[in-house]
Amino acid sequence: MPKPDELSPLWIVFPYIPKESIGWRMGAGDDYLNQWLEWWRTDFPADLKEGYQLRWPEPQGWLGFYASLTRRNTAPALDSKSGSLADATNCEYACLKCAHTFVIAISALEAATNLYPTRTDTCDHCLQRVGTGPVKCRNCGKSFELSFPHWHLRCDLAAGECPACGTSYLSACIC
Ligand SMILES: [Zn+2]
Ligand SMILES: [Zn+2]
Ligand SMILES: [Zn+2]
Repeated sequence: MPKPDELSPLWIVFPYIPKESIGWRMGAGDDYLNQWLEWWRTDFPADLKEGYQLRWPEPQGWLGFYASLTRRNTAPALDSKSGSLADATNCEYACLKCAHTFVIAISALEAATNLYPTRTDTCDHCLQRVGTGPVKCRNCGKSFELSFPHWHLRCDLAAGECPACGTSYLSACIC
């Protein structure tokens, strides 16, 4: 049972919504997710978080969830040679895998060109890395991951080769 001032984990309240589901982006799932994240980040004392995680271990399918919350609190890794947080701006970003939207900090250089391939920040819903996403090979149908360096500009530029069959995947720059 949750303590009185505590919110139960997402998977307890909505056991029928899988972690990567669109159900977290609409209706009751979306409301509770936002309420829970707000509570976790601002209202829940940091020294109680470890106990909470022990009492509510992540079930199958949610592994890495708590870790992703911690990661999100740290600034994205910005390459000191090509940009700094000093000139960073916030940018609304839609996850390439689950379409969840969230805000990322980008440097002035990234705002004008490519997202750094060294970024380590991830979607807090599905843990897909920012600037990368799954694509499907048009030849063999296998899914693989590619970089989308212009995704923050709403451009789906991507290029690569299917690791299974070698067919090239190309989506031209539209920005
Ligand atoms: Zn996602
Ligand atoms: Zn293929
Ligand atoms: Zn582009």
